[in-house]
Amino acid sequence: MRSEILNLLACQPEKYVSGEAISQTLNITRAAVWKQIQSLRESGYEIEAQTKKGYRLVKTPLSLEEWVLKQGLKTQKLGRKIFCFDELSSTNGIAKTLIQQGVEGGAVILARRQTAGRGRMQRVWESPEGGIWMTVILKPQLSLADAAKLTLSTGVALAHACRELYGFEAQMKWPNDLVYQGKKIAGILGEVVGEWNTVQTLILGVGINANLDRKDLSPNIPATTLKQIVGHPVNLNDLVIAFLEALESEVESLEKGDIEGLRERWLAYAAGLGTEVQVERAGQVFKGIFQGISTNGELVLEVNHWEQLFSSGDVRLRSLDGYI
Ligand code: ATP
Repeated sequence: MRSEILNLLACQPEKYVSGEAISQTLNITRAAVWKQIQSLRESGYEIEAQTKKGYRLVKTPLSLEEWVLKQGLKTQKLGRKIFCFDELSSTNGIAKTLIQQGVEGGAVILARRQTAGRGRMQRVWESPEGGIWMTVILKPQLSLADAAKLTLSTGVALAHACRELYGFEAQMKWPNDLVYQGKKIAGILGEVVGEWNTVQTLILGVGINANLDRKDLSPNIPATTLKQIVGHPVNLNDLVIAFLEALESEVESLEKGDIEGLRERWLAYAAGLGTEVQVERAGQVFKGIFQGISTNGELVLEVNHWEQLFSSGDVRLRSLDGYI
């Protein structure tokens, strides 16, 4: 009912739609129309009401709203199906259940809060209200090796969307974090689901510290938020839309085989290129110069004039001079 009322209001963006017209079209009482309008206002929709004229939609909310996302998305596949929840344990978790139930590729799961968000190696990912906690389900036309590169594509899409919308220098910290001045704004967790030989399904979990205050996160983690960087709350729907559109174009380009293009785009956003870094792998520490990434997405480290490659699995990257 909410979306039907919104559709009616959106049909004539500048004009008022009378309560009478809404009640007749939707076959509900005038009182029911009023109740729905009140509930939409509580969700953040700004709706003007004028006696004798009716209602006019003035502004949509900054918070995640399925209707707003659907109105704005220009993608072919990504986000054609959206599941939006107030609270979930983890969006990647529910994605796995939906995949078992046969959900189509391109479906997107969003939660306003997560109670058990996870990073790599089952590390805790804090996900309070105000962030974007999301999973994209993909069934790409790619080999396993190339599908693994979709984590890089996700990073490129995220950095691109943030730069385009907010104009600050968002960067990627290898392999999967979006950072600004060394502090984490967002993390990405890609997982392969099911039998690779039959249906190739991949889930891309993305957690963005969007409209959080710094105090909403533990003080000891090197994190920041979009609200803190840009100085005001951002429109979460616009960000999801810009990100999904950019991701769709990255997936298409990977499906066309443009692996070198992906590497170059990722490197254009890379944090700490050419600086001294430390890589930890299974308790071992390697120090060297961060030279870039291979076409497979491995980190290239120059150690004593030798190039050494690290794949992302269990490796942690640390900066030695404060760049990342
Ligand atoms: P590191 O951040 O230590 O280099 P990583 O990049 O591999 O490791 P992930 O596994 O992707 O990290 O994410 C988990 C880590 O991110 C947690 O251990 C915590 O330090 C940090 N973290 C948890 N929640 C958030 C959040 N909302 N924003 C930023 N950082 C977070």
